[in-house]
Amino acid sequence: MTNQDLLAVAKEFGSPVYVYDAEKIAFQFNRLKNAFSEIKDLRIHYAVKALSNISILKYLNSLGSGMDTVSVQEVKLALKAGVAPKDIIYTPNGVSLEEIEQVVRLGVQINIDNLSILEQFGAKHPEVPVCIRINPHILAGGNSKISVGHVDSKFGISIHQMPLLLRIVENTGMNINGIHMHTGSDILDIEVFLRASEILFDSAKNFKNLEFLDFGSGFKVPYRENDIETDIEELGEKLTERFKNFCKEYGRELTLVFEPGKFLVSEAGKFLAKVNVIKQTTSTVFAGVDTGFNHLIRPMFYGSHHDIKNVSNPEGKFRFYSVVGYICETDTFANNRRIAEITEGDILAFSNAGAYSFSMASNFNSRYRPPEVLWYKGKGHLIRERETFEDLLRHQKVMDFTPKTAKASK
Ligand SMILES: *Cc1c(COP(=O)(O)O)cnc(C)c1O
Repeated sequence: MTNQDLLAVAKEFGSPVYVYDAEKIAFQFNRLKNAFSEIKDLRIHYAVKALSNISILKYLNSLGSGMDTVSVQEVKLALKAGVAPKDIIYTPNGVSLEEIEQVVRLGVQINIDNLSILEQFGAKHPEVPVCIRINPHILAGGNSKISVGHVDSKFGISIHQMPLLLRIVENTGMNINGIHMHTGSDILDIEVFLRASEILFDSAKNFKNLEFLDFGSGFKVPYRENDIETDIEELGEKLTERFKNFCKEYGRELTLVFEPGKFLVSEAGKFLAKVNVIKQTTSTVFAGVDTGFNHLIRPMFYGSHHDIKNVSNPEGKFRFYSVVGYICETDTFANNRRIAEITEGDILAFSNAGAYSFSMASNFNSRYRPPEVLWYKGKGHLIRERETFEDLLRHQKVMDFTPKTAKASK
């Protein structure tokens, strides 16, 4: 999308606004697919939590993607988008047995990540095939806030508990049809990913009826120019060979599953905000925008870097700014950032705003959540309207608790 396209979107739909480039999503999807083209049965399950707009789900499904879900609500969204139950996997953490049973009734593959629920579920429903999430205790991600595979992580069943796991499976007579791992976000080092995969293969040998191996996700995407990213093509080459060998040993062709969120949608998204005020202090120049961590929380929550471009004045002289939000809280998007000269009213574009951006937005400060636009074939299509005052009031009950006596004396 060009600067002109972005300005046109801001003009047509107002600011702030999220815009997603359909072409980029398709590009990433096909890139991953091509990297594993030698795998007979590859399934890519998009991680719905990254960006859960139903039109995005529909679009990804039309490209051939299944869905990876973490709540029964996400399962329902995927079904609503027209995704077949067999193309959905449910990978929750710490949910109730009741919710898991609800998902099973919807015809969706479940993934269990703790022994307590595994035992309860197996005892009650030994006939339902179950995937298990193991924790390989390998820290694939670079940032501990978004890594979920280390030893103290709450995610997955520790591989050290394999003997107990196997006893539960035997005692209940349940059917394990898949093994899953997800070591967290931001995999830089392919060798680390491959090491974790070895542990997955090792665990898989314990089960006779497997249909698929799910390697999760956590592929790193670039956040700045010349940033390192996961070398998907190299990973494709190495893991494909190893996977094929494993299938030979195992004696059956298995399905290889990935569940990328960020990789598919992060770079496709731009978040557009308008500069309300330029405020010079003794130490910096603030550019105050018409948004805050209510709409884009990643910089404050994870310390994530989002490139910021002044699309209204891209050729302007570069100056240093602190870009801050309008929330009554410290909400700094960027400190001391070089940006083309900003004038009040300019539109700034935040990069990497496709994943974990709108989906983590809130109504803090009673602001409306922004609209979402899908840029498809040279045109912006509104896929979510901006909220309105009615949305803020929805579900609230206006009740009068004024004491009767006080009323009487009025
Ligand atoms: C969040 C999540 C993903 C997606 O992770 P990304 O870093 O966005 O690719 C995949 N699988 C599971 C189980 C997840 O919780």
